[in-house]
Amino acid sequence: MKKTVAIVVPFLNEEGNLPELYRRVSAVFEKEPEELRFVFVDDGSTDGSFQWLEKTRQSDPRVGVLQLSRNFGHQIAITAGMDHADADAVVIIDADLQDPPEVVADLLAKWREGFEVVYAVRKSREGETWLKKFLAASFYRIFHRLAKVNVPMDAGDFRLVDRKVINALKEVRELHRFMRGLTCWVGFKQGAVYYDRAARKAGVTKYPVWKSLKLAFDAITSFSAAPLRWVMGLGVIIAFSGFIQGLRVIVGKILHPEEFASGWATVVALILFLTGIQLLCLGLVGQYVSRIFEESKKRPLYFLRNQ
Ligand code: UDP
Ligand code: MG
Repeated sequence: MKKTVAIVVPFLNEEGNLPELYRRVSAVFEKEPEELRFVFVDDGSTDGSFQWLEKTRQSDPRVGVLQLSRNFGHQIAITAGMDHADADAVVIIDADLQDPPEVVADLLAKWREGFEVVYAVRKSREGETWLKKFLAASFYRIFHRLAKVNVPMDAGDFRLVDRKVINALKEVRELHRFMRGLTCWVGFKQGAVYYDRAARKAGVTKYPVWKSLKLAFDAITSFSAAPLRWVMGLGVIIAFSGFIQGLRVIVGKILHPEEFASGWATVVALILFLTGIQLLCLGLVGQYVSRIFEESKKRPLYFLRNQ
């Protein structure tokens, strides 16, 4: 029997890109033996994307559309797509054509070799600001060190995932999801293909720097408690230097009483510095606690509008 592959496309206001994406993906599958399905996930779009898809769906039965009840964010949209894809494998691809659909052919080839997760690693990134590239490069390196998960550097969400892995991921229902991390964390046989990342075709990025930073923070806190250990280490260092300073003052006062007059400016600076560090550490602990709070509510990850 023919194997089926579902292309999962999470999108937010991408009417300028969807028609070309649809065309190029369809063209790729004309040469492949697998049967193609589309799972477009509308993550709360307010432009004409959904209307275009509804029209396309009437003439092409391969097209499926999930409409989330509001904007839940990219990672949740991917999850919704994977949950509802009825296929032997899923390919997650961005709607903005930064992930060239032609690379899907390479992903499929690797999958046929027996790999169960095939991620596409960027050799280069075109049309992105230096700040974003710098942040991305630093993030992957930090994450690599912190998380005990072997997440490939410079691989985005563009990847192929086998049915076995999708079933495993269905059991992972955490709210703060870093899908790139999770698809590695579940294990299975992982492989890579390499590609040059294109510039966005139309529209603007839906990931401003602050959103990327939030994703990075979510990724780190959901995969590693190392920042809490750092905070403890920092506490030990500061306490120890305070102890040494105390000794210095006592000994100094005995030996040279006149040189150890009070210096209130130093004291004020020290108080500000130390209270700042304390609040920072408290905030960090608070971030972990608030994540426990959010997860403990066990709310559904998303709602579908067209259920
Ligand atoms: N996206 C989404 N929901 C969001 C933000 C983005 O579904 O809340 C989609 C977006 O339409 C695109 C993909 O996620 O298909 C990647 O977003 P984008 O290209 O804007 O991010 P960038 O490539 O600039 O990091
Ligand atoms: Mg993009």
